[in-house]
Amino acid sequence: MTPSPVWHPFTQHGLGEEIPLIERGQGAVLHSADGRQWIDAISSWWVTTHGHAHPRIMAAIAAQSAKLDQIIFAGWTHAPAETLASGLIDITPEPLTRVFFSDSGSTAVEVALKMALGYWHNRKQPRQGIIVMEHSYHGDTIGAMSVGARGVFNRPYAPLLFDVTAVPFPAEGAEQATFDALEAACKAGAAAFIGEPLVLGAGGMLMYPAHVLAQMAAICAAHDVLFIADEVMTGWGRTGTMLACEQAGVIPDILCLSKGLTGGSVPLAVTLAREEIFMAHWSQDRADCFFHSSSYTANPIACAAAVENLAIWRDEPVQQRIDDLAAMQTRALADIAGHPQVAGTRQCGTIAAFDLHSDASGYLSNWAVHLGAFGKANGVLIRPLGNTVYVMPPYCITAEQLDRIYAVVRAGLDGRT
Ligand SMILES: *Cc1c(COP(=O)(O)O)cnc(C)c1O
Repeated sequence: MTPSPVWHPFTQHGLGEEIPLIERGQGAVLHSADGRQWIDAISSWWVTTHGHAHPRIMAAIAAQSAKLDQIIFAGWTHAPAETLASGLIDITPEPLTRVFFSDSGSTAVEVALKMALGYWHNRKQPRQGIIVMEHSYHGDTIGAMSVGARGVFNRPYAPLLFDVTAVPFPAEGAEQATFDALEAACKAGAAAFIGEPLVLGAGGMLMYPAHVLAQMAAICAAHDVLFIADEVMTGWGRTGTMLACEQAGVIPDILCLSKGLTGGSVPLAVTLAREEIFMAHWSQDRADCFFHSSSYTANPIACAAAVENLAIWRDEPVQQRIDDLAAMQTRALADIAGHPQVAGTRQCGTIAAFDLHSDASGYLSNWAVHLGAFGKANGVLIRPLGNTVYVMPPYCITAEQLDRIYAVVRAGLDGRT
C-alpha cells in the first residue's frame, strides 16, 4: 500500500502509531471502516457535545446545503447568521450585544485581541499590553500562541510571538499571588486580560474556583482592562453550566466560543462583544472599521448547524444529561482515586481529570502515548495530556459506556505497574 500523504496535527509520524480510519460516528461511538468501535472519551478533542451525527443537526446541514452554500459576509447577510446571532445574544449576558463570526477557536481569539486593541486605538488611548494566565492555551495561530503558555509546542516559533505579561496560575492557597500580579499588570495600563474560565484545558485540565475568577474579573474592571473570556472549551455546558463565567457571575467584555457551537459538527466560531467595543469601531470613517475577515466568515451551512444546536438546547433535556454525566463522573473519580498510580483527582461539571505519579513529566511523557495506544487497542478514544488523564465525553454517553472508559483506563494503569 502506498503511504498516506496526510500530515496529521500534533502527531509524531516517526513513532508509527496506528491511525484508524473512521467511517461513521453515532452518539458516543466511532466506527472504523474495518468494523472496530471506540467510545469517544474526549468528545473528539472537546467538540462533540450531544453526540456524533445528531440527526437534527445533520438534517439542518442537509436542508441548508440545498438552499445556500456560501455568500460573502462583508456587506451581505443571510437568515442562518441572523437567527444564530440573535439566539446567542439571548443566551449570553445582556451586556454582550454584538456577534462577530469566524471559523475556529484560534481565530475567535485573534478577533478578540484585535477588537481589544482596536477599541483602545479608536478611542485614542492606545494600549497594547495583554495579560495572560500561566499554563493557558488559546490556539495555534501566531497571536493565539503568543497569549498561550510557552513550551515545547511553540519553541521553534518563539521569534514570531509577541510579549505578554503572565500572572501565575491561582493554585489553591496561592491565589493572592495571582491577584497581586494581575493588579500590578493592570496598573501598568494593559489593553486586556485573556483567560480560560474555571478550567485550563490544554494546560493540563487545571481547575480553579469561581470566586477566584470573579475576583480576577473585578480587578480588571477596576482598572478598565478588558476581560476576554476564552470559553472555546468551557462553553456549551462542559463545566456544568452553559458558560463557565455564569458560575462566577462574571460578564466578560469579550467572549470567544467555538467547539460546541455547532454541537461539534462543522467548524464555526464567534466572538461576542459589548456595545462599547462595537461603538468604538462605528463612525463615518472607514479607517475605524474592524479590519478582520476570512473567506468563509459566517458560512451559512455552519450557521444552520449552530442554529439547530441552540434549538436542541431548548428542546432536549441537555442540562439534565449534563447533570447526570457530572454525577457519574464524581462516582467514577471517587472509585479511581484510590489507585496507587492516581493523584490529584479533580472535576468541573462534566470534565474529570487526574494526574499520574511519574518521574517523567510534561507533555512529552511517554505515558500519554502508552495510554492513548492502549485505549486505541481496547475500544476507547482517550488522549492524555502528558501525565494528566482526563475524561470529557459527549453528554449522551451511557453509564455502561462511561464504566467501560474507566475500566480501560484502569487496565492501562495496572499494566504500567
Ligand atoms: C481548542 C481551544 C482553542 C483553539 O480552538 P481551535 O478551534 O482548535 O482553533 C482556543 N482556546 C481554548 C481554550 C481551546 O480549548
